[in-house]
Amino acid sequence: MAVKVKNVMEDIVIGRMKSIIEKSGICQCDQCQSDVAAFVLSKLKPKYVSTVSGELYSKSIQLDPDLENQMILLIAEGVKLVSEKPRH
Ligand SMILES: [Zn+2]
Repeated sequence: MAVKVKNVMEDIVIGRMKSIIEKSGICQCDQCQSDVAAFVLSKLKPKYVSTVSGELYSKSIQLDPDLENQMILLIAEGVKLVSEKPRH
C-alpha cells in the first residue's frame, strides 16, 4: 500500500489562475502556466489531504476570504514575473 497525499491548493490555484491568465494576455503555454502555478504554490501554505477523499474534498473546499485575496495577489505577481521572463 502506498501513501498517497495531495495538496488540494494545487487544484484551487490552477482553477483560479486560468481566468486571470486569460485576461492578462500573457502566453498561455503549459510552461508559462506551470511556472505561475509553481510560484503561487511555493508561497501559499499547502493543504494536504489523503487522495482517497482528496478529489472530492478539493471540489467542495471553501477558502476564507483572506486566503482567497492572498492567492489572487500571488497569481497576479506570478503572471507579472512570468511575462517578464518567460522560460519557453
Ligand atoms: Zn509560454
